[in-house]
Amino acid sequence: MKKTILSVENLNVFYGGIHALKDISFSVGEGEIVSLIGANGAGKTTSLRAISAIVPFTGNINFNGQDLKKYKAHQLVSLGIAHSPEGRGIFPNLTVMENLEMGAYSRKCAASEIKKDYEECFTLFPRMKERLKQKAGTLSGGEQQMLAICRALMARPKLLMLDEPSLGLAPLIVAQIFDIIRMVNSKGMTILLVEQNARMALKISDRAYCVETGKITLKGTGQELLDDPQVVSAYLGG
Ligand code: ATP
Repeated sequence: MKKTILSVENLNVFYGGIHALKDISFSVGEGEIVSLIGANGAGKTTSLRAISAIVPFTGNINFNGQDLKKYKAHQLVSLGIAHSPEGRGIFPNLTVMENLEMGAYSRKCAASEIKKDYEECFTLFPRMKERLKQKAGTLSGGEQQMLAICRALMARPKLLMLDEPSLGLAPLIVAQIFDIIRMVNSKGMTILLVEQNARMALKISDRAYCVETGKITLKGTGQELLDDPQVVSAYLGG
């Protein structure tokens, strides 16, 4: 059993009168890829927003022994959580390099250590190195997604949260992005992934949870869910 790094218990979120998350519980172990899959509006993004303290919640979220209720959104990067939001959240008018610098902004370590991490990122994402001076808004969709992941990694997180990295990308590019996620994980990064592309997400996930209208309806290993007839008919077009 892997050590739990993130534990979410009885999470509830309201947007005014809308009860978006209804007693959701899930966990992420160190070094795992865990996915939340589900249809539009199920509550996947809201789960990440609660962890990132972007929306108020009731219930318990514990990260690496810390009660996240005590933290504000801007403190979470220093705690070790990086969130690559839906729509990527890059700064289109800044260059690729400037975007990456924003990712490393909160770190209080030696410049040499940060330089080493840039080099590591460029090994993983050679395309980024070629485009350092290019405005991020002029990158292709796939490159923008790579930049979003790369920027999140520059914060040197203990947990990387990715919201819909495949959104709006052609199948070939989606496959590349999933390869990158797998590669980043193989270097030890713990990943919480939110995806509508259930098949791709389940293929790379150690474990996953199905979210439906604000509730967890199924959970299991990636392979168990890929083989589950309910998952096949609801999410895999079977
Ligand atoms: P998608 O893949 O479409 O983003 P999701 O599973 O991530 O879906 P959420 O974005 O978490 O779903 O939304 C969950 C529910 O909360 C939806 O019914 C949505 O309409 C509602 N919701 C989300 N954000 C807000 C908001 N700011 N104000 C009111 N309702 C909201």
